[in-house]
Amino acid sequence: VNGGNSYQIYRPAMEKRVNNYFQIVSEFHKSLFRKEFELYYQPRIDFKTGRLESVEALIRWNHPERGLIMPMEFISIAEESNFILPLGEWILKEACRQNKMWQDRGFPAVRVAVNVSVKQLQQPDFARKLRDIMEETGMDPERLEIEMTESTLMTDTNQMLITFEELKKIGVYLSIDDFGTGYSSLSYLKRLAVHALKIDRSFIRDLPEDEDSVTITEMIIGLAHNLRLEVIAEGVETVQQHNFLLERGCKKAQGYLYSKPLTESQLAEMLGTSGLH
Ligand code: C2E
Ligand code: CA
Ligand code: CA
Ligand code: CA
Repeated sequence: VNGGNSYQIYRPAMEKRVNNYFQIVSEFHKSLFRKEFELYYQPRIDFKTGRLESVEALIRWNHPERGLIMPMEFISIAEESNFILPLGEWILKEACRQNKMWQDRGFPAVRVAVNVSVKQLQQPDFARKLRDIMEETGMDPERLEIEMTESTLMTDTNQMLITFEELKKIGVYLSIDDFGTGYSSLSYLKRLAVHALKIDRSFIRDLPEDEDSVTITEMIIGLAHNLRLEVIAEGVETVQQHNFLLERGCKKAQGYLYSKPLTESQLAEMLGTSGLH
């Protein structure tokens, strides 16, 4: 009787979620084929030079009926359904291809950071595929950054450790995304030859008023300096946040204060006028 009731209560919402899940999954492959996915690029600023030093690739889905769909709405579904494997491969290839294109046009060197999910890193052929993509596109390893979240580091399966070793050999730049939100053991940072920590937006958001955010941000900057890692703040929106970071010795940031994520052509325009020649 009681069970019947709760069944009645949760079923509609549940059904909607399930339908949405299957609807999105069923559209994924077609969308990849039809080239509905697009990479946007968010610039990162080097405080010292005031110039763009790298960009983060962020996926968008240009849906024919629903318009622009943000990653929050489909990345976890892509991960759950394993569509992240072909999609992730496309993302890496596209980021490398476009970066090589900028290089060929004589633009200043810019590293591109690609978000890679744990499912991808757990594939035994991840490193081989990455090598193939870089060879095929003519991408330099120093120009490619792999961003993995802190929780990825907790998945220390044998395969992951092998993949990390191979990434180290390939020579790509590695950074830990959303740093401070997980509970990763800090020993990973040394073991993995990580290059940079990214301070999560949730800590930057409440600077400089919130005491806990101040403490955590200072801690992460201090940790990075002590381990000789780079540190990047994400989600910087105000001059106050920028000044706080500058005073604490954080030297790089991304956020709406500097630039929103740009389309490839917007970024190319920016790179083209940034004064190399
Ligand atoms: P993330 O990796 O933490 O990316 C940063 C997110 O913060 C991006 O949202 C970016 O547009 C947004 N952001 C940047 N600056 C600001 C700011 O100043 N204020 C605010 N409020 N937001 C800012 P986006 O593009 O919607 O991506 C959301 C998440 O989706 C990403 O979080 C990442 O976890 C995932 N994602 C995006 N692209 C990819 C991808 O190519 N592959 C994978 N596996 N995940 C991706
Ligand atoms: Ca990221
Ligand atoms: Ca992040
Ligand atoms: Ca984040």
